[in-house]
Amino acid sequence: MVDRGVLENVMLRRFGIAWRLAGRHPPRLLLIGLLGVLVIAVPWVTLRTIEWTEHQAYEQLAVQGRDRLTLYGVALQSELARSRNIPVVLSSDREVAELLSDQGRDDPTNQHMIAFDRRLESLSASLGVAAVYMLNQQGDIIASSNWQKGSESFVGQHLGFRPYFRATRDGREGRYYAVGSTAREPGYYIAMPVWGAAGVVGAIAVKTVMDELERGWSGGGERVFVTERNGIILITNTPQWRFRTLTPLSAELRSELRTSRQFGNEPLPLLGVTAGAVLTNIAGTDYVMVSQPLPDDSGWTLHVLMDIREAQARAHDRGLLTVAAMGLAILVLYFLVHRGRMMHRHNKELEQRVSERTAALVASNRRLTDEVTERMRVEDGLKSKQDELVQAVKLAALGQMSAGMAHEINQPLAAIRSYADNAVTLLRLGRHDTVRDNLSEIAGLTERMARITGQLKQFARKSSGELEAVGVAHAIESALALLAASLRADGVTLAWTPPATELCVLADGVRLQQVMINLLRNAQDAMRAVAERRLSVEVAVDAGLVHISVRDSGRGIAADAMAQLFDPFFTTKPAGEGLGLGLSISEGIVKGFGGGLSAANHPGGGAVFTLILRRADAE
Ligand code: ADP
Repeated sequence: MVDRGVLENVMLRRFGIAWRLAGRHPPRLLLIGLLGVLVIAVPWVTLRTIEWTEHQAYEQLAVQGRDRLTLYGVALQSELARSRNIPVVLSSDREVAELLSDQGRDDPTNQHMIAFDRRLESLSASLGVAAVYMLNQQGDIIASSNWQKGSESFVGQHLGFRPYFRATRDGREGRYYAVGSTAREPGYYIAMPVWGAAGVVGAIAVKTVMDELERGWSGGGERVFVTERNGIILITNTPQWRFRTLTPLSAELRSELRTSRQFGNEPLPLLGVTAGAVLTNIAGTDYVMVSQPLPDDSGWTLHVLMDIREAQARAHDRGLLTVAAMGLAILVLYFLVHRGRMMHRHNKELEQRVSERTAALVASNRRLTDEVTERMRVEDGLKSKQDELVQAVKLAALGQMSAGMAHEINQPLAAIRSYADNAVTLLRLGRHDTVRDNLSEIAGLTERMARITGQLKQFARKSSGELEAVGVAHAIESALALLAASLRADGVTLAWTPPATELCVLADGVRLQQVMINLLRNAQDAMRAVAERRLSVEVAVDAGLVHISVRDSGRGIAADAMAQLFDPFFTTKPAGEGLGLGLSISEGIVKGFGGGLSAANHPGGGAVFTLILRRADAE
C-alpha cells in the first residue's frame, strides 16, 4: 500500500511544480507587500475614485448646465423682446402721439381715450402680456389695457417715480422689474418715450408677468433664476426664492429700494449661498451652478442650478464598486498568500513526516537487518551445533552398535578362519573340491562383512543437506540392516512389509536413515524391560504424504514424559546410556524435510512414533 503522506507530498510537489511551470507561483513576500499596499491604498483610492467620479460628473453637469442656460436665456430674451415690441410699435404710432399731445384729450374718460383703451386691451390679449398702458408727460396712466378691471385697472395711477418712466422722460427706453403698485404682482416693465413736436409727450409701457416662463423652466428639472444687478432674485421656478438675495444688501441700498418701492414691502432676505470651488451651496443644498449675465444692459444674470444627487449616487456607486473590486483583489491576494503559506507549512510538515518516517523505517530496517543477521548467525551456529550433535549421536550410536557389529564381524571372521584352516588341511589331503567350496564360503563371508562395514561407513558419512527423492523401503531396510544383529540378540520379532510399489519421499537419504535408526533403537530400548518384544514398521500413503510408523511392545511413554519428549537432553535412560538428543535431533531433521514427527501410546500397548514425509513423486 502506498503511504498516504508520501502520496500527498508527491501530489503537492507535482502541483507545486505545475504551478511554477505555469508561471503563476507568486513570490510570497511580494504578495504580502501587495496586500499591505492594498490595505493602505483602499480607503485612499476609494476616496479619490469617489472624488474623481464626482468631479467628472460635476464637470458634465456644468456642461449640461451651460446648454440649459443658453436655452433658458434665449427663451427669456425672446419673451422680453416680444413684450418690448408692443411699446416700440405703439410709441411711434401717430394716434398715440396725438392723444398725448392734444391737451384735453388725455382725459381717460373721453371717447378717444376709451377707444384707445380698447385697442390696448385687444393688443394685450392677443400678445399675452399682463398690461399695456399709456402715461402722460407727468407719469399718470391715462389709458390701459385693464381699464375695465375695476380696482386692478392702472388708469389714474401715478408712476412718475418709477425709474423706467423717468428714463422715457429723458428720451430713453426704460426697463424695470418691480412689484406692481396695484396688484402687487411682480412683473417686467418696458417703457418707450412717445415723441411729440416739442419732445417727449408721454410714454407707452408694457408689463410682462413671467409666470408662464417660470412654469416652462420647471419642466427641465433644474432650478433656474434671474438675479438683478444687486443679486435679488426676480424670476425663478422656485417661488419661495423670489425676492431673496444671493448677496447681502447694504442698508443704503435697502433704503433706496424701499423708497423706489421696486419690491413693494418685500423683506428681501438672504438666501444663504456658499460658493465652493465646484459646488455652490444654496439654502443647505449643493448644486453645480452656472451663471450668465444677459447680453443687454439690464444687469440681469441668469442662473441654472444642476441637481448633483444623481451624480453623487453614481460616484458613490463607483466608489463602492472600487472598494468591492479592491476587496476582491485583497481576498484573492490573501488567499494566495495564505495558500502559499499553508502549502509551505503543509510541505514542511509533510517533509518532516516523511523524513521522520524514513528515519523510522531506516531504523527498523537496520533493526531487522541486525535481527536477521543475528538469526542467521545463531541459525548457522545452531546448524553447525546440530550437525555436530548429529555426528556425536551417530558416534555414540556407532559405539553402542560396535558390540553387535563385533559379533556380526567376528562370526564371519571365525568362520573364515576355520574355513581357511580347513582349506590348508584339505589341500594337504588333496581334497581340492572341498577346498574350492571352503574358499567360496570365505568369499561369501567377506562380502557380507563388506556390506556391514559399507553400511557403517554410510551411517558415519556427513549428509549433503540437499533434499532428494529417497526410496522409503531402502531407507528403512538399511536402518534395519544396521540394527539387525542387535535386534536379533535382544530376541525382537520384527514385522516389516515393504510397500507394494516403490515409494519415494523428499528427504536426505543419510539423515532419514539416522532418524529411522533413532526410532528403532528407542523402540529396542523400550522393550528391554518387557519379555515380549515385537517391533513393527509400517508405511501408509495419505494423499501427498507418506506415514512411516514404528511401533514397539514396550511400556509406552510415561504421561509426564510426553510433553518433553522432543526437548533436547530429555532422557529417562540411566546416565551414560542416553543423551536425550535423539528425538529432538530427529524432529529437527524431519522438519527440515518439510515433514513432522509425532509420538503416541498405542491403544493396544506400546509406543508408536510416526514420521510424516512429503511424497517425492507427488510434487
Ligand atoms: P535417549 O534415547 O537418549 O533418551 P531420545 O531423545 O531418543 O533420547 O528419547 C528421549 C526419551 O524418550 C527416552 O529417554 C524415553 O524416555 C523416551 N522414549 C523414546 N522412545 C520411546 C519408546 N519407543 N517407548 C517409550 N519411551 C520412549
